[in-house]
Amino acid sequence: MANSNCFHANRNLNLLPGPTIGDSRDMNQSTTEHFDVLIVGAGISGIGGAYHLQNECPDKSFVILETMDDFGGTWKTHTYPGIRSDSDLYTFGYGFKPWTGPPIASADEILNYMAEVIEDNDISRHIRYEHTIKTAEWSTHDKFWTLKVRHKDSDEQLTFTCGFLWMCQGYYSHTDPYTPDWPGMDRFQGAIVHPQTWPDDLDCTNKKVVVIGSGATAATLIPAVADKTEHVTMLQRSPTFFVARPNSNELADTLRQLDIPDEWTHEIVRKKILFDQQQVVEMSVKYPDLVREELYKGIREILGEDYDVSEHFEPAYRPWQQRIALIPDGDLFHSIASGDASVVTDEIATFTETGIETARGDLLEADIIVTATGFDLSVLGDISFTIDEQPLDFSDTVGYRGMMFTGIPNMIWVFGYFRASWTLRADLIAGYVCRLLQHMDKQDVQMVAPTLRAEDRDMELLPWVDPENFNPGYLMRSIHLMPKQGTVDPWRHTQDYWKDKDELPVADLDDGALVYK
Ligand SMILES: Cc1cc2nc3c(=O)[nH]c(=O)nc-3n(C[C@H](O)[C@H](O)[C@H](O)COP(=O)(O)OP(=O)(O)OC[C@H]3O[C@@H](n4cnc5c(N)ncnc54)[C@H](O)[C@@H]3O)c2cc1C
Repeated sequence: MANSNCFHANRNLNLLPGPTIGDSRDMNQSTTEHFDVLIVGAGISGIGGAYHLQNECPDKSFVILETMDDFGGTWKTHTYPGIRSDSDLYTFGYGFKPWTGPPIASADEILNYMAEVIEDNDISRHIRYEHTIKTAEWSTHDKFWTLKVRHKDSDEQLTFTCGFLWMCQGYYSHTDPYTPDWPGMDRFQGAIVHPQTWPDDLDCTNKKVVVIGSGATAATLIPAVADKTEHVTMLQRSPTFFVARPNSNELADTLRQLDIPDEWTHEIVRKKILFDQQQVVEMSVKYPDLVREELYKGIREILGEDYDVSEHFEPAYRPWQQRIALIPDGDLFHSIASGDASVVTDEIATFTETGIETARGDLLEADIIVTATGFDLSVLGDISFTIDEQPLDFSDTVGYRGMMFTGIPNMIWVFGYFRASWTLRADLIAGYVCRLLQHMDKQDVQMVAPTLRAEDRDMELLPWVDPENFNPGYLMRSIHLMPKQGTVDPWRHTQDYWKDKDELPVADLDDGALVYK
């Protein structure tokens, strides 16, 4: 690790003064800036990381490089009608910043919340927008990373060096969403749009809209446009679990009535939600049919006994194999009940000039087709990595606690939870990184890399996530590009908040698997 003595970067200036260690000057004489820590991405993970870093490691210099022109990540990229969280903000929000709104929040509300964190903690001076990291080269000789970065404004290639790389780049491509190649797409005369690249001027008023997809995005978008469209159809190949609930939290409301401080309310409500979720997860494994029935009950109450809930809302998989999207106030189901929206569960045979023909031969007329078909995985922010001049093949590595990787020194990747709220893990990882950085300073070492110990070498290697437990399309399509996980700790990637919350804050940093130099 680049400790403060080795090549200390001036916190305010952050420009290396001359050709010292870490100051590589390229052909066109652009300067190199050095930071102890470089955070990739100003989404919810990167901003949370910055908060932890400046509170827990106040002596570390750091910068956040962000390719977009503002913070927010996912919540800035997605601008489709109705865009909102599908998990509650008591747990999707940070542990350190109370959430005071309704549990399910719009993208704007999440961005405002993040803006407050940035403002309250004076983080904006550390963020460089429109900086896209293209390459990252690790040198064991120098014990630091060198990054080539494209600055959009000047179209200049900049060079940054850093002791530690904190990857908060998320998991999907923000520029290229996933759209399958269906037969006849080019015949369709209307507009085909992906929610991730929603055109500002797209007007759905009095239009026939077909939304392809069954996930949280489709479920969010449909009630948001249903009122104004002539009709909106959700076309899904197979159903997804949803839970219809009021967008309020009784416990939070009661605590607020009692004038309990926001910090306490946040903590208590967060604990209660997590506790309840844990019960549901356990029940989903032990008594999946009971949990299914509970979920369907809420839907039937809105759609009525005559509606075919079984065909459209009863998935083949077990509850909680994927996060169960919360439908605030059951708005999707109310749109269906009112006749503004409907669901068709069928395969696409072909696009036609005027819509979609399904495998069963139904023709769904459309002026606009929305492909809510998900993402393409982006492995490591599309950055090309080399380790000591050797190109890195990420799939050759084994994950250490699902956040560091064998053979990749001084790098951590924040991959949050996908069944619980992502940020719960981002917060836990941030605490771990800060502890690791402090530990390295105490030991006066500059480099750490997970390495399989003698007893780990014959361990069976498994896919990055267990497809039995989590199997969304974007991950399954690209699982071969991802690191492996082992069968024993600390090589497992369990995605288990309850395990992580007890283990990560006290995990042994001298377990023999983390090798320091
Ligand atoms: C529509 C939608 C709704 C979701 N709802 C929920 C929810 O309710 N609950 C939940 O837990 N999860 C949800 N998720 C998952 C969600 O992505 C995460 O929860 C979380 O927002 C991810 O935050 P992040 O900061 O890790 O990554 P991101 O939000 O993806 O941000 C990563 C940032 O890194 C930047 N970046 C990437 N590569 C580079 C590079 N090479 N150089 C510079 N910058 C780079 C990107 O521009 C981006 O700003 C949702 C996802 C989507 C798409």
